[in-house]
Amino acid sequence: MPLLRALPALRDNYIWMLSDSVSGTALVVDPGEAEPVLRALAEEGRALSAILLTHHHADHIGGTAELAAQYPDATIYAPFDERIHLAATRVADGDAIDLPAPGAHFEVIEVHGHTRSHIAYHGDGLLFCGDTLFSLGCGRIFEGTPEQMLASLDRLARLPGETRVCCGHEYTLANADFAISVEPGNVALQSRMQAARAQRECGEPTLPARLSDERAANPFLRVDAIADERIPWPTGATPSRRRVDRFAALRLAKDHSPA
Ligand code: ZN
Ligand code: FE
Repeated sequence: MPLLRALPALRDNYIWMLSDSVSGTALVVDPGEAEPVLRALAEEGRALSAILLTHHHADHIGGTAELAAQYPDATIYAPFDERIHLAATRVADGDAIDLPAPGAHFEVIEVHGHTRSHIAYHGDGLLFCGDTLFSLGCGRIFEGTPEQMLASLDRLARLPGETRVCCGHEYTLANADFAISVEPGNVALQSRMQAARAQRECGEPTLPARLSDERAANPFLRVDAIADERIPWPTGATPSRRRVDRFAALRLAKDHSPA
């Protein structure tokens, strides 16, 4: 049975640590800094065997070099992107990663949009999706187009409903404020919001989220379900029936919302 921990890092990042009860090893996803990982490994008496990176942003890779220096045998997996200056095994859409220790199997899914080389790792009921899918939200479109981001989210949304979504940031409550503004009557959203509030009050992460819950409550996975009159069209824009236009309007409004 794999053991999963969300290690808080930097301001609101999570570094995901996956281990098992037999091998004495762990892997981490997106170590934006080394210290929380080194501390967790020391606490649990484990060695680091692999580092999985989703995209080149510093808050996701910043601790990698230091971890690799301390654990030279750890394999680094990264997307093809010259901005990641690390000796890494480069992986792309459809590649499979089989790790003996901790025992884990992942498939690589290309999810461009936040950046032009962002990837996600899916396997063993877990999805490590960096800054593409957040609970009740999605990543900002920095280098891609709304078409690309929507295609990426659509693809993730088709994974099995019981998938546990391991996002790169604790953004759930801030995202909830925007989500409720476009779907005020969504009961699944209301209860997710309440549960997330209670989790944060206890200092617990709101993640991982269940993919089926995201499909029921995350506005960026519900482009077709949101009422026409709730789509926040920019001033002067003509309302459109095209999914991608609806998605782009939601993403743009979220960019400009206070949360
Ligand atoms: Zn990012
Ligand atoms: Fe990030």
